[in-house]
Amino acid sequence: MHRRALFQTSATLGLGALAGCASAGAAQPAVKTPFGVPATHVPIMGSDMVFPVRRIYCIGRNYRAHAIEMGSNPDREPPFFFQKPTDAIQNVAPGQVADHPYPTLTKNYHYEVELVAALHKGGRNIPMASALDHVYAYALGLDMTRRDLQRAMGDEKKPWEIGKSFDKSAPIGPLHLASQTGAFASGGIWLKVNGAFKQSADLGQMIWSVAEQIAKLSEAFELMPGDIIYSGTPENVGPVVRGDVIECHIDRLPNLSVKIV
Ligand code: MN
Repeated sequence: MHRRALFQTSATLGLGALAGCASAGAAQPAVKTPFGVPATHVPIMGSDMVFPVRRIYCIGRNYRAHAIEMGSNPDREPPFFFQKPTDAIQNVAPGQVADHPYPTLTKNYHYEVELVAALHKGGRNIPMASALDHVYAYALGLDMTRRDLQRAMGDEKKPWEIGKSFDKSAPIGPLHLASQTGAFASGGIWLKVNGAFKQSADLGQMIWSVAEQIAKLSEAFELMPGDIIYSGTPENVGPVVRGDVIECHIDRLPNLSVKIV
């Protein structure tokens, strides 16, 4: 009986794979693979558990002054989103200055400091009023960007993946439980390079709040547990070169530091 049930599960999964359907959210099936691939996790502060990352969503131009500096209309246009691959994550422990590799192909490598929300509940068409119930934890993150390639691709109306969605382009600090931190509707957010302030703003200046981002995202995608959202960067993004040390901060979270190598 047990063997037959297992076989049926495997057969169903096999057909699903052939049909291009993914079975998400279910218990891990007993399937065999010819080799392993790395899974992406983010540490959870004060816990021996880690957060499994499913998708990384990022919102673009979510602070008025940054929208202006990027050449966008700063009025409240609908938010737009892009994704990074999950293995873009680079975990950075508090108190550590992690080596962060200067990527290939760029001559204009930019920092963007951002609040990150990590979801433990998903859904479609999530109402704004209950959206924050879906947030498990918050973290401090960097949306590192090959700005020259992002701009070049944008100018040619081509996808900008190569500018945004590359290896280690998403450094992140450990997650802090929303049940302990509360929401991040306001609070200081800043970034220094070699000790000098480059970005400094307040989370309350976000055009689209985290709750609104979840509501909007869930109109386009079915959100799932394990999804994380980079909520956009304030103005004064800029370049770094090898040897620079980036330190960033959000009130009530430990600072995050990387050295460009
Ligand atoms: Mn960004």
